[in-house]
Amino acid sequence: QHVVRCRGLTKTFRSGARETRALRGLDLDVAPGEWLAVMGPSGCGKSTLLHLLGGLDTADGGSVEIDGDDLARLSEARRAVLRRARVGYVFQFFNLVQDMTVAENVELPMLLVGSGRPAARRRCRELLADVGLGELERALPSQLSGGEQQRVALARALANRPGVLLADEPTGNLDTEAARQVLGLLAAQHAAGQTIIMVTHDPRVAAAADRLLVMQDGRFAEGEVLSAESLLA
Ligand code: ADP
Ligand code: ADP
Repeated sequence: QHVVRCRGLTKTFRSGARETRALRGLDLDVAPGEWLAVMGPSGCGKSTLLHLLGGLDTADGGSVEIDGDDLARLSEARRAVLRRARVGYVFQFFNLVQDMTVAENVELPMLLVGSGRPAARRRCRELLADVGLGELERALPSQLSGGEQQRVALARALANRPGVLLADEPTGNLDTEAARQVLGLLAAQHAAGQTIIMVTHDPRVAAAADRLLVMQDGRFAEGEVLSAESLLA
């Protein structure tokens, strides 16, 4: 049983006469507990893939299964539940809600799936302690450094104990020290059994993962499976 399974995934964007084939028959299997890094040139479809896996957008063809559920066969309502409860998403630019405090940001996904406030409060404290931000729970995102904002975003993404954590360039907007901290937190999650799919341009970040796939023109090229260590060789 795979946590994520894609077969023949296609996605084309159309604007006027212009067509961009972002995904062109992509296959992917991710095993429970695996940490996968995805690299590839700008525009090859990495973000589009994560959007489809996260239920933020829908495919034109092929299939995406998360924990054995085919996303295309779920109603929009069920897909919304999946998006909130079974997938966690970390973005390059954090995407925190600016007028909510750190704690409110982390509690939000739990309240959206119907957790009670006391349970959400408790789990929020635990998550913020895990990312080393217990003292900042009443701060607003604009009062935090980039690295701190990304750690809040990670806590939020993990709030509902998702089956898979999707991270799109999680260190792409951070300085070296902040990137190192976020990578350390991802490694700790991985050690605790969290399945992670991470897009990155940084070979040193990719090298922390178990497996690296290189994407080209909307799919993973045959024979492009590299060991992460080979990047650093
Ligand atoms: P990557 O993340 O690898 O840089 P993307 O998945 O963002 O690539 O984009 C893949 C291709 O699809 C690019 O050519 C991009 O311009 C195009 N694309 C992505 N999203 C849209 C959209 N919403 N509308 C039109 N074109 C898009
Ligand atoms: P990334 O750094 O992840 O590759 P992009 O800057 O390519 O991100 O895209 C950021 C957002 O804009 C994405 O949500 C993507 O779907 C959208 N997008 C990308 N390319 C286009 C495009 N040509 N037209 C419209 N939207 C696009």
